[in-house]
Amino acid sequence: MEKYNNRRFYSLNDFFREKFSDKVFKVSLDAGFTCPNRDGKVAYGGCIFCSDAGSGEFTGNRRKSITEQIDEQLEFLKDKVKHKKVIAYFQNFTNTYGDVNYLRDIYYEALNHPRVLGLAIGTRPDCIEDDTLALLKEINKKYFLWIELGLQTIDDKIAKMINRGYPLSTYSEISKKLSDNGIKFVTHMIVGLPTEEREEILNTARYIIQSGAWGIKIHSLHIIKGTPLEKIYSRTNFKIFTLEEYVDIVATILQFLPKKMVVHRVTGDGKKDEVIEPKWSLNKRKVLNEIEKELKNREKR
Ligand code: SF4
Repeated sequence: MEKYNNRRFYSLNDFFREKFSDKVFKVSLDAGFTCPNRDGKVAYGGCIFCSDAGSGEFTGNRRKSITEQIDEQLEFLKDKVKHKKVIAYFQNFTNTYGDVNYLRDIYYEALNHPRVLGLAIGTRPDCIEDDTLALLKEINKKYFLWIELGLQTIDDKIAKMINRGYPLSTYSEISKKLSDNGIKFVTHMIVGLPTEEREEILNTARYIIQSGAWGIKIHSLHIIKGTPLEKIYSRTNFKIFTLEEYVDIVATILQFLPKKMVVHRVTGDGKKDEVIEPKWSLNKRKVLNEIEKELKNREKR
């Protein structure tokens, strides 16, 4: 496998260095959205693993303006980020779930910040209307942009069980529209959903590749306190992957990814006092090192 800096996969940092000849950071924003999978438009309750923060535990304060949130995060990260440019990442809940004029306002507010060089927008495949797509197309012509789609699995039965709220065909349709319009997208998948086996998980990764995704985010399933998943886990005690099993699956995915597919993440990010299982996932450095070690060992075989 090719080696990029210290890792055997092509990470977002590698991409940034190639594209912008510099390190680029992300500032995570909360623009006050909710999610159609929570407010009843699609369903109530949300995806069973989703926390109260809408899967964005480390973002800005939603009561503040976008500019204020960017400034605060830059101040907070100042020793790390210094004078460097950042990507404004609309992270919590569904960041295209609103009137297109509101979306235009907040996206451009971020883009007009002198330190912002582009946007990352997290959303659901069933939540990009045609007028929103046109806005994204417009932004994509002038700025650096990517969209993030939470797919998690290609198995519609498991998708139903986790209350994802849309079928695989919806993902296929929107990924085609984004590709046809030259808009980059990153697809999220989860390793460790209840009852999902190794081969099915690998098939999700294969599907993401062939859907034209520019990047992939691989998360370990986190059982977070207070989520519906916590109740299911305490009732059924479903199987949790061990670190070794997780590393084997992720290393296998990384081996068959196209050379320049951008790997945004290979493990989850959870708060120590909120993650019930798997506990090993809290030691992110160890997980990353074990994946790297496994890839190195596989080269020798
Ligand atoms: S779509 Fe995203 S924000 Fe909405 S419930 Fe699922 S994980 Fe949470």
